[in-house]
Amino acid sequence: MRLRLPRERPAEPPQGYKLANPVLSEDCGRIGFAGVSIGGAQPYGVLDEARCMYGRRHRCPALRCDCGFYCLHTLAAAQALARVGAHRRAAILEVTVLGAYIRFERGMRYARQRVRVARIGPCGCGLPPEVFVDAGWGRTGWRALAGACKGCAAGRGEVSFEDFVRIGGGRLRVVPGHREARADGAAGGRPAARRVPGPAAEATAMQARLDRLQGQLGRLAGEA
Ligand SMILES: [Zn+2]
Ligand SMILES: [Zn+2]
Repeated sequence: MRLRLPRERPAEPPQGYKLANPVLSEDCGRIGFAGVSIGGAQPYGVLDEARCMYGRRHRCPALRCDCGFYCLHTLAAAQALARVGAHRRAAILEVTVLGAYIRFERGMRYARQRVRVARIGPCGCGLPPEVFVDAGWGRTGWRALAGACKGCAAGRGEVSFEDFVRIGGGRLRVVPGHREARADGAAGGRPAARRVPGPAAEATAMQARLDRLQGQLGRLAGEA
C-alpha cells in the first residue's frame, strides 16, 4: 500500500495563525520568534525555512517526522490557545504558509513561512502593550521580549514596536493586543468579565490532537 496525500494547488499561499515569543538577538541586529512548543529552542526570522529539529537530513515537513513549522487555520483557534495560562503573554502571529505543507483538520505543518502580523500579548498588569521589555529569559544568542504598558516598562530595557519592525526588515506589522481593534471606539471600556472554560480546554485538546494525527500519519507512512 502506498500512502498519497491529496494534492492541493491553491491560487494563493494559505494563511495561518500561531503563538510565539518575540526575541531580539544579543547584538540587537536581528529579531525573531521562538515557538511555544517543540522547536522553540530555534528561533525563526520573519521569512524563514523550517529545519528538522532532530538534525535529520530531510526537507520539512517530512512524512515520517514531526518537524516543520506548525500553524492553526483560524485566528479564533490561536486566541483560544493564548488563553492558556502559560501562553497568555505570547504573540499571535499571522503567517503566510510557503512551500510544501500537510493540512490537518485544525492546522498545517509546512516548510517555509513569512510572518506578516504579530499581535503582541498584554502587559502583565492586563493593560494593552505599548513597548517591549526584556521578558527575563532567552535562548542561546537571543533574549525574549514581552509586551508591557509604559507604566510597567519604566526603567526596564525597552524596545519600541517601531524598532522591532525596523530590525525585522520593515514588512512586519505589529498590533498591540491579541484581538482585533474595536471599530466602535469603545477602547478603554470595561473588560469582558465572562468566564468561558471551553476554549482553553479545547485548545489544549487541539494540540494533543494535532500531535496524535501526526503520529497516525507517521505510522501510516511507515506501513506504506
Ligand atoms: Zn525531521
Ligand atoms: Zn502594565
